Amino acid sequence: MPLAKYRTKRDFKVTSEPKGTSRKNAPQESLIFVVQKHQASHLHYDFRLEWNGVLLSWAVPKGPSLDPSTKRLAMAVEDHPIEYANFEGIIPQGQYGGGTVMVWDQGTWVPEMDVESGLRDGDLKFSLHGKKLRGSWVLVRTKTGPGKTGRASWLLIKHRDRYASKSDIVSEKPRSVVSKRLMAGIATAAGGDVAKAAESDPRK
Ligand code: MN
Repeated sequence: MPLAKYRTKRDFKVTSEPKGTSRKNAPQESLIFVVQKHQASHLHYDFRLEWNGVLLSWAVPKGPSLDPSTKRLAMAVEDHPIEYANFEGIIPQGQYGGGTVMVWDQGTWVPEMDVESGLRDGDLKFSLHGKKLRGSWVLVRTKTGPGKTGRASWLLIKHRDRYASKSDIVSEKPRSVVSKRLMAGIATAAGGDVAKAAESDPRK
């Protein structure tokens, strides 16, 4: 049950996040990725790669950087269902991850190596074909976390290529790629905490 941990943390009678199907997806031509901006107790960007019918997930507190010299901490979190890639809205307060979620980037990804050995060895190279994130990247594991959770620290790093840049992508491209909304707009539409969501929008 790859999604057992995901489901245990959530009450699907209260949150509108997808429960996820347990079946494995039929083989597809391409693998999806998504980056979700998530204003929970702390702002972070959830970086998710489709693999084996689930979304492998990392929480990136500062979000991705296009600058190869800027390594961004990425904490491994529980696998999410594939359907989660389209989730934009609010998670009710008091629920796990309560707050506002934006689909900040979406597209497909292509492994640049054998994925299973990359995950095992803590060095996964891949390219992204999103609207904001493109080109070659790597996730490097720095340490395994405590106990049974297996929660580990990784670094998300842009490789040097023509998509590398000094521009601050999270500040310069703050809008949803599916709705063009800012965080406050998403919270407003879903009846969430607009003031809290607006804290992570650009200053007017
Ligand atoms: Mn999150």
